[in-house]
Amino acid sequence: MSARQAVLLESTTVDAWRPRLVIAGNGARRRLPSLADRFWKQVSDGPNDCWLWTGEQTDDGYGRFSVHPVHIGAHRWAYSLLRAEIPEGLDLDHLCRVTRCVNPWHLEPVTRAENIRRAFVREVCGKGHGLSDAIERTRDGRVARECRQCARDRKRAYARRVRQVVQ
Ligand SMILES: [Zn+2]
Ligand SMILES: [Zn+2]
Repeated sequence: MSARQAVLLESTTVDAWRPRLVIAGNGARRRLPSLADRFWKQVSDGPNDCWLWTGEQTDDGYGRFSVHPVHIGAHRWAYSLLRAEIPEGLDLDHLCRVTRCVNPWHLEPVTRAENIRRAFVREVCGKGHGLSDAIERTRDGRVARECRQCARDRKRAYARRVRQVVQ
């Protein structure tokens, strides 16, 4: 049994994670998938023990898990469920440098300042592209370095979304 399966077994014992039985007005019974089912269905094993998020991603390449009506960072969800509550105001730094990884043992809570400091000594972005000619940009009031490839991908994705809205 892999570490992830062990964790999965453990997490499904939490009540809130059980599938819910919904009984409609006409008496029909329907089982809704539990949050755990929905979460783990979007995780696949990657190299170096990374748990790769295959679902929705943010422009920055972080996994996004939607728990109606909000979106939560998939890595933050995994960390707070399986390890500990995230101290208020702290970011989770990916020690494995793979931004869509949700393995909580690859994450470390750090201050925003420390996260930025670490980001500036990195040589590759979360997707493995070189950062030697990175572009600096401000996002949510913080300065971040973005590799050329990710900047191009992000602009293309944005243009696609705009086109969809216009059509
Ligand atoms: Zn990882
Ligand atoms: Zn990149």
